[in-house]
Amino acid sequence: MKLVTERFSVAKRHALTISRGTSTGSENLLVTIEHQGITGYGEMAPTSGGAVAETAEMAASALERWRPSIECATPWEWQRINAEICKIDSMYICPAARAGLNMAVWDWMGKATSRPVYCLLGLDLDRIVHTSVTVGINPPAVVEERVADILLRTGARRLKVKLGSPDGLDTDKRILAAALNAAECVYEEIGYRPAFRVDANGGWDVPGTLAMADWLAERGVEYIEQPIARGKEALYSQLTGKCALPVYSDESICIAADIPPLAPYIAGINIKLMKCGGISEALNMIGTARAHGLRIMYGCMSETSLSITAAAQISPLADELDLDSHLNLNPDPWTGAQWQDGRVVPNNTPGLGVARR
Ligand SMILES: [Mg+2]
Repeated sequence: MKLVTERFSVAKRHALTISRGTSTGSENLLVTIEHQGITGYGEMAPTSGGAVAETAEMAASALERWRPSIECATPWEWQRINAEICKIDSMYICPAARAGLNMAVWDWMGKATSRPVYCLLGLDLDRIVHTSVTVGINPPAVVEERVADILLRTGARRLKVKLGSPDGLDTDKRILAAALNAAECVYEEIGYRPAFRVDANGGWDVPGTLAMADWLAERGVEYIEQPIARGKEALYSQLTGKCALPVYSDESICIAADIPPLAPYIAGINIKLMKCGGISEALNMIGTARAHGLRIMYGCMSETSLSITAAAQISPLADELDLDSHLNLNPDPWTGAQWQDGRVVPNNTPGLGVARR
């Protein structure tokens, strides 16, 4: 098969601030494969917070290193391609480049068989749950405005509020209180109360996590994501039996092999295609996590509808979804999965079902 890569820029509608910093947009990489007249598309978006921060430039050069292994194979040979790539770079090196390639392979296989990817996997779209829409760290007045805008504009049923502010737990409490208040203010108009979950992106310590969990549980928040920073996984055991809310791990878990050591201390994991290396490894992670009794969430980086739609193809397997980055792009250069009453649902076009806007 033939491989082509192309860097492109995306701009965010609203800058997103999390505990580690602010992002206004990103440079992503389009990964295109072509074989027997059929084209498959995949996307790489930059990563941060995981094993290594990966840029589009790093991903493009990784794909150049892998090019001979890719171009001597057909898209039907992922196991062989991945084994060859792993001889050059481990699964932790440029996983987002691998995700773009793997996504393109799945798009190609779906098109070659005239089936959407979810059909190839026998998945039931009726199982797709509502996706969270993310609210970044901002002054409380901005959070109120943002939450009202999201609820009125999108009809989102679930909101993920970013906490772990460098200004401390009192600031986190003011942010969450502002979000709850804004949702209450628009209740009459939208006719429902959204579910709330929070993501500290590693911004808390153990006492802070336990105190915040108590406070958040009293306010109806459902769970906490990555309270403690990557690299401090040994501290998670100190939460066991004391934390008032379920804890999901995101940054601490990239691929399936990361799951067993942390599994006894967490309720679930956040799988991202850019962290793990694509749909194929995400399926491995789901099997591993289920075997440990864990719940499954999917998240995203700064991805367009191309990559979001790839995740949507396997989202019937998830308990929680956070596939919203495309909603905050202006413009989103791709179309694919449809927004249906707070759910991100793939269409019935073969492959991923994506097209350039
Ligand atoms: Mg997260």
